[in-house]
Amino acid sequence: METVKIIVAGPRGRMGREAVHLVGRTEHFELAAVLDNKNDGKNLSELEGFQGFDAPVYTNIEKCLQETGADVLIDLTTPEVGYYHTKTALEYGVRPVVGTTGFTKEQLKELEEICEEKKLGCIIAPNFAVGAVLMMKFSQMAAKYFQDIEIIELHHDQKLDAPSGTAVKTAEMIAEVRETKKQGHPNEKETISGARGADYEGMHIHSVRLPGLIAHQQVMFGSDGQTLTIRHDSYNRASFMSGVKLAVETVVKIDTFVYGLENIIE
Ligand code: NAP
Repeated sequence: METVKIIVAGPRGRMGREAVHLVGRTEHFELAAVLDNKNDGKNLSELEGFQGFDAPVYTNIEKCLQETGADVLIDLTTPEVGYYHTKTALEYGVRPVVGTTGFTKEQLKELEEICEEKKLGCIIAPNFAVGAVLMMKFSQMAAKYFQDIEIIELHHDQKLDAPSGTAVKTAEMIAEVRETKKQGHPNEKETISGARGADYEGMHIHSVRLPGLIAHQQVMFGSDGQTLTIRHDSYNRASFMSGVKLAVETVVKIDTFVYGLENIIE
């Protein structure tokens, strides 16, 4: 396989750090540069925890894209920054692999249109853990038989967006096979606002935030006399890296917009 030149945006973050190590240990990947919001002009090897990683640090994405000739940008930053990075990468002909969550529907649509116009691959995945993708697929299967569904997503307390991208994606996949139904008692009333969670076409999404957690989700189904619970747990951020690797290997071969890892795993 040809070497893929990669920029990692957000290298000092929890996910970005794992991604830098993934690139470093993968034979056909090369770390072209990292995009940080500080440390401009330094070498990555000068930063704590990156000894032996020889790559320039940029804070300006345009300059980084112009000077590095990278094939792929892996973005693991924040929703606003990630959106700007993805759009700019596409404008420079660099294929994005985006793990950053919290993009709006309008932003996703706009990015899809740019990909179509430029005929460039772009993969955005709210969850790169293969087990989480299976949890979403199994939930979609179960939703054909159970209409009453509560999605409970649990994350560490530093997460910026709620509900999680995975919970939203799960709800969207379920909505493809489930007729809209308002769940619970028709006259139910929240005595404390938010008690029933977010409402997505009548099903409910609950976001738990606690230190100690990483990324977890359970989807509960109920019908007469029975419940079914489908649960996935990511215990560390390494759990996402096989999905990131697959996305990088795939994005260089495609010229379309892909949203969700489930669309690229067999
Ligand atoms: P994090 O630890 O807060 O890392 C985010 C990093 O982005 C920080 O180092 C931050 O730097 C940096 N950053 C902010 N603005 C920047 C800019 N303009 N240029 C470059 N870097 C910038 O968060 P995380 O836990 O790694 O998560 C990152 C994203 O991935 C989030 O959106 C999260 O929801 C998502 N995520 C996705 C998956 C998946 O499988 N798709 C899994 C887990 C998390 P400072 O600290 O200096 O601000």
